[in-house]
Amino acid sequence: MQRVIFLAGILLLPPALLMANWRAMRFEFATAQRILFGAQTVKEAGRLAADLGRHALVVAGADPGRAAPLLQGLQESGVATAVYSVAGEPDLETVRRGVAQARRERCGVVVSFGGGSVLDAGKAIAAMMSNDGDILDYIEIIGRGRSLARPSAPFLAIPTTAGTGSEATRNAVLASPEHRVKVSLRSPFLLPSIALVDPELSRDLPPALTASTGLDALTQLIEPYVCVRANPMTDCLCEEGMRRVARGLRAAFAEGHDASAREDMALASLFGGMALANAGLGAVHGLAGPIGGMFAAPHGAVCAALLPRVMQANLRALRLRQPDSPALARYQTVARLLTGRSQAGAEDGVAWVGALVSDLSISGLGRYGMQKENIAEVVAKAAQASSMKANPVLLTSSELSALLEEAL
Ligand SMILES: [Zn+2]
Repeated sequence: MQRVIFLAGILLLPPALLMANWRAMRFEFATAQRILFGAQTVKEAGRLAADLGRHALVVAGADPGRAAPLLQGLQESGVATAVYSVAGEPDLETVRRGVAQARRERCGVVVSFGGGSVLDAGKAIAAMMSNDGDILDYIEIIGRGRSLARPSAPFLAIPTTAGTGSEATRNAVLASPEHRVKVSLRSPFLLPSIALVDPELSRDLPPALTASTGLDALTQLIEPYVCVRANPMTDCLCEEGMRRVARGLRAAFAEGHDASAREDMALASLFGGMALANAGLGAVHGLAGPIGGMFAAPHGAVCAALLPRVMQANLRALRLRQPDSPALARYQTVARLLTGRSQAGAEDGVAWVGALVSDLSISGLGRYGMQKENIAEVVAKAAQASSMKANPVLLTSSELSALLEEAL
């Protein structure tokens, strides 16, 4: 009898113990409808676009001549094209003008060919082509924040840099010069119909751009991995993406034509986009938004200056206020993936990132005009940023101010 009771006790205890640590898993995962990845896939853009429509607005960068082979491919596939050039980061007016041109030229499809700015501009134009009203009606913080009512016009995204992962995200970052902020248009409808990622398109990217965009990609793999909404699907993407940045970024910086390094970085960028769209980001992006709105600094360079400092501040705050947080073990995994050393501790990851930023010659925020007097405004604006809410620990204003001062 005693033995039976004892067994029953054993049987009862473990589930009770398990319950104490068990948290129901719940997540959603959405990405571009189709993803094509590989060298030379850009040659398939014409055929793919033809399935989406017959008149395409091609959104390109400051030098639309770079899109000439793409335009030829579209025309050979029977797709008529109108080119809209976007120089620099898009603002609300960029979107309005693009929509007007698309309507005037009766375009039913948008093809974006360029860096994150060009992709985001195309994404917002495609959304506004099929929704009523003005872009401001749908913008968060400075606008009315309404939800888009109808799906965007078909949108084909072709990145030519490896950093933002915008080909797999559901937001478009737009500047509002009058408010001195960057804001996002957000909707599941912004996910591209097709993301076409051809790593060869980034082979001529100059080293400085390879460095800053690459650091954006790394930030967009670390932040979703340690954030409060990480899930098993985004974890897989982040772990594999970090391995590829560790292997590929220095190589792509040193030798732009290294095909396997470019492939690693293109994939890392795509994975970062897929992860951030489904898990969220953290304090680096929470601060980078306002800084980007106030100063003409490349987004990736801002992320690079902040990343090691935010990692360090998060570790310190977690140990102090949330010593049981699973983010602490995650920072250790980050360190192991980046350094390739199975015994690495969380601080080794911070040091590895710091050394990478300095070896790739990325300057601090002071270079772009930010000074000590601007810190309070950045911290106040960052408090409203949605990325801040995903950070693994709530950083205080004084913690944020201190890390910003170090990043100048
Ligand atoms: Zn970013």
